[in-house]
Amino acid sequence: MIVAIDGPAASGKSTTARAIADHLGFIYLDTGAMYRTLALAALRYAAAGWSEPVVQVLQKSEVEVAYADDGEMRIFLDGEDVSEAIRQPEVGTMASRISARADIRDRMVALQRKIGQAAEPGVVVDGRDIGTVVFPDAPVKVFLTADLEERARRRQEELQQQGQEVSRAAVRKEVKARDRADRERAVAPLRQAADAVVVDTTHLNVQEQVQAIVDLVHKANGGHA
Ligand code: C5P
Repeated sequence: MIVAIDGPAASGKSTTARAIADHLGFIYLDTGAMYRTLALAALRYAAAGWSEPVVQVLQKSEVEVAYADDGEMRIFLDGEDVSEAIRQPEVGTMASRISARADIRDRMVALQRKIGQAAEPGVVVDGRDIGTVVFPDAPVKVFLTADLEERARRRQEELQQQGQEVSRAAVRKEVKARDRADRERAVAPLRQAADAVVVDTTHLNVQEQVQAIVDLVHKANGGHA
């Protein structure tokens, strides 16, 4: 079974998706991590002085996903585990830029479908185009959203936990710019699928968000999960 969760930056997708996956015994697939991994490759090459056009760098960069024994998703760039390195804010901004490219999306979508179709008994996938493009037939589709201010607060807290001090204003600006770019791009823009259920998490805690979506999964399964 595929549970598709889309929504804007810092709407609580990854925390919620991971918790739902744990609850249901499914794997969790973070598709943003894939675009972030290619973004990291581009940023590293930029730092090294652009020895080749970025298109070539992106084309030859290998992205792989693996699951640890405890079920945690790890992501690799050319064999190197970059699961932590991709969390820097500048990687998110670069991911938003490169994810507008159709060739990059085609490659990542193919990988997402391969992992999703092999997942037993199921997978919780989060991103921007999961219910609209990657898995349009997913039996459970959720569009997770929250006020901009609340999303900026959560992202700032997350960064603080990673030891990064960034002002609320800077985080708000970054989140807002990324949403705008994701919504306005020509290829696979962020939008709610017609059959997605909207879950506004502004006033919900993680447990309530998880429960709301687990209930949808049970319903889609005819009472079984
Ligand atoms: O979800 P996360 O913030 O890690 O995603 C980073 C960026 O990757 C997003 O801003 C978006 O541009 C891109 N992305 C995407 N499609 C997805 C997941 C992420 O375009 N399915």
